[in-house]
Amino acid sequence: MLVIKSIRWEGGLRSKQGGGDESRMTRGKQKIEAQRRNAERNQKPKGSQLEARAVGLKVICPICKVQLANHNQLVDHYGSKHPKEKPPSESE
Ligand SMILES: [Zn+2]
Repeated sequence: MLVIKSIRWEGGLRSKQGGGDESRMTRGKQKIEAQRRNAERNQKPKGSQLEARAVGLKVICPICKVQLANHNQLVDHYGSKHPKEKPPSESE
């Protein structure tokens, strides 16, 4: 009984000493995870920004209500579909 106890205790000590390696590995893991999280954080705003920009760039022709990606396309659209009309200014 006593012998088994002491062996178990030694084993506990040994695993405690080996904990140095383990904590080093854990730190490396955490670093990688932090980098991955940083990468995700850097990617997410980019995606939402692009999305918002795409929505913001959407121009609707006030005459035929067709959706265009940007003001230049609206000017082109006016030139081909509504040549007699003047396209609205870009600031609006
Ligand atoms: Zn139109």
